[in-house]
Amino acid sequence: MTEVKSKLALLGGSKAVTQQERDMFTWPIITREDEKGVLDVLHKRSMSGSDVTKEFEKEFAAWQGVKYALGSSCGTASLHSAMFGCKVGIGDEIICPSLTYWASCLQAFSLGATIVFAEVEPHSLCLDPKDIEHRITPRTKAIVVVHYCGYPADMDPIMAIARKHNVKVIEDVSHAHGALYKGRRVGTIGDVAGYSLMSGKSLAAGEAGILTTNDTEIYERAIAFGLYERYEADAIQTEALKPFAGLPMGGYKYRMHQMSAAVARVQLKHYDARIAEIQKSMNMFWDLLEGVPGVQAHRPPKGSGSTMGGWYAARGLYKPEALEGLSLRRFAEAVMAEGAKCSPGCNAPLHLHPLLNTCDVYGHGKPTRIANSDRDLRQPKGSLPVTEEVVGRVYSIPWLKHYRPNYIKQQVNAYKKVSRHYKELLAGDTDKGVVEVAYHLSRR
Ligand SMILES: *Cc1c(COP(=O)(O)O)cnc(C)c1O
Repeated sequence: MTEVKSKLALLGGSKAVTQQERDMFTWPIITREDEKGVLDVLHKRSMSGSDVTKEFEKEFAAWQGVKYALGSSCGTASLHSAMFGCKVGIGDEIICPSLTYWASCLQAFSLGATIVFAEVEPHSLCLDPKDIEHRITPRTKAIVVVHYCGYPADMDPIMAIARKHNVKVIEDVSHAHGALYKGRRVGTIGDVAGYSLMSGKSLAAGEAGILTTNDTEIYERAIAFGLYERYEADAIQTEALKPFAGLPMGGYKYRMHQMSAAVARVQLKHYDARIAEIQKSMNMFWDLLEGVPGVQAHRPPKGSGSTMGGWYAARGLYKPEALEGLSLRRFAEAVMAEGAKCSPGCNAPLHLHPLLNTCDVYGHGKPTRIANSDRDLRQPKGSLPVTEEVVGRVYSIPWLKHYRPNYIKQQVNAYKKVSRHYKELLAGDTDKGVVEVAYHLSRR
């Protein structure tokens, strides 16, 4: 395949991507098997039951290699239950990256706890182990680790810090189902993990979530919190929970919808094979872009034993310094004009949002962030410089679901062509360097 040498499409040249691949980005893959699963639930009239969900839980626990898996209505609910499982309560603090979706941490407010944000590493976009320890106080109950956009966070040093200070680790695996950290499945390394199975995620069932743990007390506290019908005194080993069986301690009802459980079972069955194809495709994309000025892969180094799972919301990192400061917006505009996927952005840093600074959610008479604490732990602009800077360097890349080398090469060529001809873009670059980021990655 010869590389396109023509002028940039944005400036009137021909496009690098000429092929159309309609189903390349279609996700999740839905077949008759998914349809049958849903219809079976419907005809059994067991949408609100838990028999299908329990089957899914067994399969998911076996797939992850953990003792317990507990389904719930969404990833937000699973992470909320995980926090309660770790005894996050009144006056407590959790440490969480600011670069994540809000459901990694905001549930802490409703438990009477509050949030301290820590930096991410610029190459992984995951919690920086070097920025955790100095933020730990006697109030710190848990560290929430997010495997951001599939990249496995550096768990070994994080676990060492957590063990040293007797703090729990909650893994948010909503972006990284099936990813490996040094050969180990993410979600099995911390004390407990929560996973979204929302339909935009890589393991996609639609408005569902799951929690996994090897810890009986955490598991049972998660049941007690929001699954009253499974909270039975003789089924529970944790003595402290027995007297209150029958009613949900949290006052929540977090049961998974069984149509989602049915879809989840089918999706899980095919998941390893499907993500193997995604991995092959995405690795080819980045292999071909290795050394191209301006772009940097967001993936773990080869030979590390770490992988990106299903490459949820696949991202790249931008290096404007290699292109005389060409703005990411202008660069992306040119790549898109070539017919390839490239759009700037990732989750906006949470510590700058008014909800974390001024909002009095529960009527304490002061902002909830500090009402749930004995100190003002708000983090103004400038307080997390790495996070604040790096969000302006992130862009989405084509999230390739199928291994079709010719099409992948065309996508790659779009990036290469823009990188090679970047000088032509400098003149029309009016961007002030501000990249818009949103509080979500997709609206699905
Ligand atoms: C999607 C997501 C969640 C929440 O999951 P829902 O199923 O949408 O409730 C939590 N954390 C992260 C990082 C997410 O991307």
